Amino acid sequence: MDLSIQNELEGLADAGLYRRLRTVCSPQGSLIRLPDREIINFSSNDYLGLSNSDELRAAMIEGVQRYGVGAGASRLVCGNHAAHEELEQTLARFKGTEAALAFSSGYATALGVIPALCGKEDVVILDKLSHASLIDAARLSGATIRIFPHNHLEKLRRLLESAREKHGAGTRVLVVTESIFSMDGDAAPLLELVQLTEQYGAMLLVDEAHGVGVLGPQGRGLIAELGLEKRVALQMGTLSKALGVSGGYVAASREMIELLINKARSFIYSTAPPPALAFTATQAVKIVALEPGDALRKQLRANLAAFHRLAKTTHPNPAAIVPLIIGDEAAAMQASAALQERGYLIPAIRFPTVAKGTARLRLTLSAAHETGQIEGLVSHLLDIVPELGAAVEEAAEEGPA
Ligand SMILES: *Cc1c(COP(=O)(O)O)cnc(C)c1O
Repeated sequence: MDLSIQNELEGLADAGLYRRLRTVCSPQGSLIRLPDREIINFSSNDYLGLSNSDELRAAMIEGVQRYGVGAGASRLVCGNHAAHEELEQTLARFKGTEAALAFSSGYATALGVIPALCGKEDVVILDKLSHASLIDAARLSGATIRIFPHNHLEKLRRLLESAREKHGAGTRVLVVTESIFSMDGDAAPLLELVQLTEQYGAMLLVDEAHGVGVLGPQGRGLIAELGLEKRVALQMGTLSKALGVSGGYVAASREMIELLINKARSFIYSTAPPPALAFTATQAVKIVALEPGDALRKQLRANLAAFHRLAKTTHPNPAAIVPLIIGDEAAAMQASAALQERGYLIPAIRFPTVAKGTARLRLTLSAAHETGQIEGLVSHLLDIVPELGAAVEEAAEEGPA
């Protein structure tokens, strides 16, 4: 028994920060099976319910029949299948860019892209609420890291100014943000961010993990909704959320993608994702971009509207993420446990995923939810979370922190 490990685990438990895995025995969906019972699921990022759709199940089987299960090697050795290239061409068309590059996950995308572009002479400036993958990637790059308060354009402007003053004209300055923030569900002021980065000659990376599939024409994300495809240097995303599959990608200019093929270590030194998965993801992008995607987005919107109507909240976020700010870590855990007791799965999100003292229930809606499930949820929430409307609005009103 290693005492230092044991002490560390006890420390986590004492702070209410101990994490445990939960076993799911069924496909993803609005109702999932745990070992001892079924539970209504309001915690998945499968916003359109595609992960267990008939179309994608069939596509995965067809992909396996065509390509087998493994890629055999990294993309630069002999693992670059036609299925990967078709996925990348489909993603580039979808995101309105010249090219795209697929990775084994969104996390691996961030870890590959940022250090490929920035080194110790450079500056990476991140929104404070950026996803852990982006923060880890910035650290790995060795660049000077600057953080601006969430969505705070004036602070960002000052950081851009000082980056230009302190560092020479040859340094790269990369600004990193998300289009829809994963834990708060609010949007970044993308047009202003584009204008600022253009003014200071900085590059902009926008992670659309929670925007794609949900927002924009054909579900192409918030960047497309604002018509900014040509003005965002790097559009990053994941295939694992609304697209229902697995993997990550970045869409950019042809030369940017060429540089990443040459330099992104998580791309170069990792076996290519299974080509069957790339085949399935290509079908997922096509579904999301066509009428079936429009119908699913309409259903998701209707479900969100139903939730907000029942919960009497007046400042709904544009996306499918509804954070209920509880504050205290232990109280958030208790609220989550009480909901689970009543048959609803809504995990508590705590430090270090969010700041200390802003523990929350992170509830996500999907096109797959039925009205009765939403009604049931809200009636239990009204019981368990006092001031439910305020808990939702606190997050929406948080503004620049
Ligand atoms: C989920 C997520 C990722 C990581 O994507 P995976 O494909 O799950 O590794 C990256 N960025 C954001 C904002 C995310 O929410």
